[in-house]
Amino acid sequence: MEQRVFGGTGRQVPVLGQGTWQMEEDDRDEAIRSLRAGLDLGLTHVDTAELYGHGRVEESIVSEAVAGRRQEVFLVSKVMPSNATYAGTLAACERSLKRLRTDVLDCYLLHWPGSHPLEETVRAFEKLVADGKIRSWGVSNFGVAELEELVELAKPERVACNQVLYHLEERAIEHAVLPWCEARGIAVVGYSPFGNGRFPRPDSPGGRVLEAVARAHGVTPRQVALQFLVRRPSLFAIPKASRVAHLRDNAAAASLRLSREELARLDAAFPLGAYSDELPML
Ligand code: NAP
Repeated sequence: MEQRVFGGTGRQVPVLGQGTWQMEEDDRDEAIRSLRAGLDLGLTHVDTAELYGHGRVEESIVSEAVAGRRQEVFLVSKVMPSNATYAGTLAACERSLKRLRTDVLDCYLLHWPGSHPLEETVRAFEKLVADGKIRSWGVSNFGVAELEELVELAKPERVACNQVLYHLEERAIEHAVLPWCEARGIAVVGYSPFGNGRFPRPDSPGGRVLEAVARAHGVTPRQVALQFLVRRPSLFAIPKASRVAHLRDNAAAASLRLSREELARLDAAFPLGAYSDELPML
């Protein structure tokens, strides 16, 4: 599995990781098997959050999947904005650590910008780093204005990543957020790479291009999509798969190489759309 430096952390992290949102709705044993198969195949970046299943995903799925293999995993969780005061962030992190049955997170994110002062959240993140509870921290769903506010409070090197919505039919980050992060060495983690289950239909204009590129390589359209979404060195993707068959399909995308011409065809088939100040999020 190809790895890349993850922002200012200096850590090598696989280009493809594993999401866990809504896993509590799926067959638990199969979801755990899928996450563990992912670790076997090198998808060791595991993304979760206190929000997911109100803590149940951390507690009963991710903790089980990483049990006995914690050292292999780049484990990421997120604090909800409603908890992101100084004391609230420290407490939320302790709860996540306990549910995940670990003593350290590799990266801890603010799930989206909220109403508590960002300064408090950043101060709590730095305290957690100093105390050895987290190895790095970052943000999620931050647009450029919020990122600008963030780097008034902390050096860009302290911000490991910005996790944002990014799939073929939602490329808004490419207007400003992606270049802004790239200029400062901040990793960009694309979430919902399959549109949270709304993948382009094979009979749509874009879907037909995906099918054609996939056919030329003997791979699936989702593999083509994943490779397009990690085509720049700052990019990572975290597809979610509760089924082992899906997981295997996704993992195989890492070895696919698309030509410049194929990337250009996909770029044209899934146009960027107009710029908006509002960063789309799920
Ligand atoms: P996604 O990864 O875009 O899509 C997941 C859906 O695609 C599931 O229904 C999954 O089915 C299906 N799927 C996966 N691989 C497949 C394959 N090879 N063939 C056919 N179907 C396949 O959706 P997502 O969960 O929204 O996004 C991924 C992760 O990003 C989340 O799990 C979460 O960790 C993160 N995220 C973060 C935020 C944020 O605000 N920071 C927001 C949304 C998501 P099965 O599960 O049945 O295998």
